[in-house]
Amino acid sequence: MQAHNALMSFRTILIVGGGFTGTVLAARLLRESHAQPTCIILVERQEEVGRGLAYAKHDFPYLLNVPAGQMSADPENPTEFLEFAQQQGVSATADDFLPRRLYGEYLSAKLKAAARNPSPGTQFLRIHGEVVRIRRVSQSGKSSWSVGLGDGRSLSADTVVLALGNPPPRKLHRCELDPWRAAEEVQPGQSVLLVGTGLTMVDVALRLSTVPGVALTAISRHGLLPRAQTAFTRRTMCDGGELLDSPVSLLALVSRVREQARAAVAAGRDWREVVTQVRACAPALWRRMSLEDRSRFLRHVRAYWDVHRHRLPAETAARIAQLEAEGKLQVHAGRIREIRRVDRGPCVIWYRRGALQSEILRVDHVVNCTGPDYRVRQSPEPLIRSLLRAGLIRPDPLELGIEVDPSGEVIDARGRPVPRLYYVGPMLRARDWEATAVPELRRHVAALARRLTAEATVKLPKRSPALAALGFEIDRPR
Ligand SMILES: Cc1cc2nc3c(=O)[nH]c(=O)nc-3n(C[C@H](O)[C@H](O)[C@H](O)COP(=O)(O)OP(=O)(O)OC[C@H]3O[C@@H](n4cnc5c(N)ncnc54)[C@H](O)[C@@H]3O)c2cc1C
Repeated sequence: MQAHNALMSFRTILIVGGGFTGTVLAARLLRESHAQPTCIILVERQEEVGRGLAYAKHDFPYLLNVPAGQMSADPENPTEFLEFAQQQGVSATADDFLPRRLYGEYLSAKLKAAARNPSPGTQFLRIHGEVVRIRRVSQSGKSSWSVGLGDGRSLSADTVVLALGNPPPRKLHRCELDPWRAAEEVQPGQSVLLVGTGLTMVDVALRLSTVPGVALTAISRHGLLPRAQTAFTRRTMCDGGELLDSPVSLLALVSRVREQARAAVAAGRDWREVVTQVRACAPALWRRMSLEDRSRFLRHVRAYWDVHRHRLPAETAARIAQLEAEGKLQVHAGRIREIRRVDRGPCVIWYRRGALQSEILRVDHVVNCTGPDYRVRQSPEPLIRSLLRAGLIRPDPLELGIEVDPSGEVIDARGRPVPRLYYVGPMLRARDWEATAVPELRRHVAALARRLTAEATVKLPKRSPALAALGFEIDRPR
């Protein structure tokens, strides 16, 4: 309550979540000049900001799947991450795939620098805690948000941005939800089933390949592995004009894209150029697709799109191929019917793709590599559940994420935008399909920052000692 009163005199923007999206948004809002003095509050439940799920601190050097030269968090300063890495003594070029852990350090340093030197009239407050509910309150004709933390603290904000990021995967048997942590449990000589064959499986397989004598089996519906990245040229043909002018149906689109890819290869170029082109215009293509075609895409095309779009550093792809060739990793297309726990560990009943007869696989561990489960209605997160109960958010019809209007304000249960409650992050795939990687997210963050800096509500004093007195950490993000 004390916190609530102290912040009343500020125009406050509260960001829930300090992963890539929340951290970069906070840094931008601190640097840019606002229509009126503003206090930016960043609430993150992890000890450190900037890491989130993707850039967590692991001892194993998990790599970025995008070269350093394309990973700047700032679209206006494309070499920022590369320069940061070089300043840390890493001898890297724009084409190198650097550790994800280093990227987390970059984001944290970016926020620290912005908080040390904010634009005039802007202040920063970092709170370590979990937001569990958000309620609208109206007082003297002015409406604001009351934001409740898990430990009972409460804050008031004029604007709230939900930057909640990547949800945990679907529950699978009794598997640990964090596959990177689960990998640390595996002992030499053990057998492991990896459920999923995407980028998370690759992470875990690489980590486990360093444990002597481990036998790996990976199963997914299609059994497809992500393709390798190359140093292809991002040509100007990537405006997507032709695709956007072509017929709207999914079938026509898919055959056009395949034709373009074949033509590129026949002309001595790289099919990745075509994928990049489609990715660039994916939001426009997705928005004009009918709901039926979107649903068809998810059922029939998505698995193929994903492995061509989310690619691996060439060395990583070669290492996975080597593990397969050595028989240390077996990849199958199939469907898991059941995982039972028997005395000797998990017993997996599964069907190979197209087979009628089930097979039994006994392993020492099962690791859930199925990736984030974006189905909002199934979310175990207290905040999401509370927002749903209050009717403040709603999932899109295909349950890909959260619905927002073009400005980023969330859409409530009755289909109306909720003033000054925004969402930004990977769940924008409900609107844009391609919304999970840094190149897309940084653009969304920049657009939201522009909108928020233009908003204005109340008049403020200069730096407030009252905030420090409340025991919150000010201007010192960790
Ligand atoms: C393993 C992995 C690797 C990736 N690698 C790449 C890559 O190499 N290149 C690339 O371009 N993209 C990559 N991505 C894509 C990635 O989604 C984005 O880059 C980015 O992590 C998304 O950031 P975010 O902040 O939206 O989500 P997250 O990183 O998930 O962060 C969300 C944060 O919000 C916090 N939070 C959530 N709810 C609450 C709450 N109620 N209260 C307080 N805090 C809360 C969480 O603790 C978390 O720190 C990767 C993704 C993953 C999962």
